[in-house]
Amino acid sequence: MSIRLLPPEVADKIAAGEVVERPASVVKELLENSLDAGAMEMRVEVVEGGRRLIRVIDDGHGIPAAEVKLAFARHATSKLQTADDLNRITTLGFRGEALASIAAVAHVTMLTRHVDEPIGTQIRLRGGAIVSHERRGAPPGTTVTVEHLFFNTPARLKFMRRPATEAAHIQNVVTRYALAFPQRRFSLLSDGRLVFQSTGSGDRRDVLLKMYGVDVAREMITIEPREHYGVRVYGYISQPSVHRANRSYVTFFVNGRWIHDSSLSYAVIQAYHTLLPQGRFPIAVIFLEMPPEKVDVNVHPTKAEVRFQDARAVFRAVERVVRGALVAHAEVPSIRPLDSHAPDWAERRQALLQAGREEAPVQGELALPHLDVERKPPLTPGIEASHAPRGEDALPALRVVGQIGASYIVAEGPEGMYLIDQHAAHERILYEEMMAHRVNGDVPRQQLLEPISITLPPTLAVLAEAERDRLAALGFDLEPFGPNTFLLRSVPAILSRGDPRQTLEDLLHSLEGERHLVDQAKEEALIRSICKRAAVKAGQPLSMAEMEEMIRRLERCRSPRTCPHGRPTMIHISTHQLAREFGRR
Ligand code: ADP
Ligand code: MG
Repeated sequence: MSIRLLPPEVADKIAAGEVVERPASVVKELLENSLDAGAMEMRVEVVEGGRRLIRVIDDGHGIPAAEVKLAFARHATSKLQTADDLNRITTLGFRGEALASIAAVAHVTMLTRHVDEPIGTQIRLRGGAIVSHERRGAPPGTTVTVEHLFFNTPARLKFMRRPATEAAHIQNVVTRYALAFPQRRFSLLSDGRLVFQSTGSGDRRDVLLKMYGVDVAREMITIEPREHYGVRVYGYISQPSVHRANRSYVTFFVNGRWIHDSSLSYAVIQAYHTLLPQGRFPIAVIFLEMPPEKVDVNVHPTKAEVRFQDARAVFRAVERVVRGALVAHAEVPSIRPLDSHAPDWAERRQALLQAGREEAPVQGELALPHLDVERKPPLTPGIEASHAPRGEDALPALRVVGQIGASYIVAEGPEGMYLIDQHAAHERILYEEMMAHRVNGDVPRQQLLEPISITLPPTLAVLAEAERDRLAALGFDLEPFGPNTFLLRSVPAILSRGDPRQTLEDLLHSLEGERHLVDQAKEEALIRSICKRAAVKAGQPLSMAEMEEMIRRLERCRSPRTCPHGRPTMIHISTHQLAREFGRR
């Protein structure tokens, strides 16, 4: 064959193939455009993993009517003017290829209105050709709908995976960007179901919680921003006790751009050196910031690979920061019994406890709401085990010294002083006790003397009806009793002190905010709210006996060091630290 120029449709399809590998690539490109357009809220809708439909709705600045057609032309971009601009790119897009590529291999509809224009534009394309273009009323912002993806590239179509797999890839993309831009709100609907939503609170922990669930999220170590070799590094990494079977849980962002870099992944894994079992990998989300001219983002059509001017420096910065965070984390809960003190601590504590008793006689009944897991024999053997302290997170036996500010308990352990936040610690205790009861199906409940009739606002009534079983399992027995009205027959025992009506309404309100969560996460959120309400407040004076009981129950917790919301329950100041502070070492 002699050399010929490819016809434009063929060239377009080839180029499109580089940008649009699968439905998730479409979502990525569209989200990047929305982010570049300053959108604060982005809603992604997909049907059948994006095979049938992908839609991204944003409230960004939109496209002026006169430029809508141009936006779909290859190499048409508003983000670059000169070749020189390529050296300092601050937007996510810059190649002017995405819309053209997507349109080349799908049916695309865009409805957009520029903020400064009174009316919007709707354009439809099929396989790259414009089929309609008209003025249309629309709110400011842009909605892009992509249907029949790969309809004209049968090879690609064949390589698409099951809708569930494609949907998972899409969710990956959306959650990653939600993490990178915590001030903006993202939501993802898959086949009509809300599967992810970020609040835009600016707190990345909120996003992590939704990505990985409470259990993993609370085990993540926060890396505060640190600069090495001109690279600012921050993020979240898993404690060595949490690991995964592959390295795909290590994620990087460079100046807000999600990138893949196997060498940097290796830097993270290397930092865990020996801390992880063979063949296991950490979870990490690492943000890198550096001057844009130090990184070339124009390496690959998907912009997911970058080239660093000084790759070694970046590698070393990542490795150092991650290692530093791991070491620091291991030092804080320095729970290993200190060799010299350990043997006699048990004895010493006993003696001290005895002494404490004489000074502070137990007065009356304990005021602490109690779930009392231990008095009842466990129904299933597993529960007992789950309440025994385990692993490196276990607390040593502590001796209560006193209370500060009616909010913090001061305690002594084999390795120094512990300051314990009474509210957070109590939340943790109640949470684990309630979870254990939940597994057994025997959450203690308080029957009300008279059932209370409660009329709820309609949205809460619908929610109460939908969640009746879940609420019942946690101690709220609700019986429908006329329109929007229920009879409340019992409440969880730990909430028996409060006003049952108010308690139920408050919980339903908080549950309303957790609509996006799926079953188990929803239940955990509900249990957290219950425990938060029931836990002793800051500012409440506690007797010695109450504090001792609290500490004893905390010692039995699986994760005594954090409250169910992931905040620390205690600060530990080691004997060593004390000595150093006093200049004794
Ligand atoms: P690039 O993002 O690399 O510039 P694209 O093909 O993705 O190229 O988009 C082309 C142009 O269309 C962008 O430069 C931008 O001006 C405009 N555009 C695309 N999507 C949006 C959007 N959601 N909001 C506002 N403008 C957009
Ligand atoms: Mg783009």
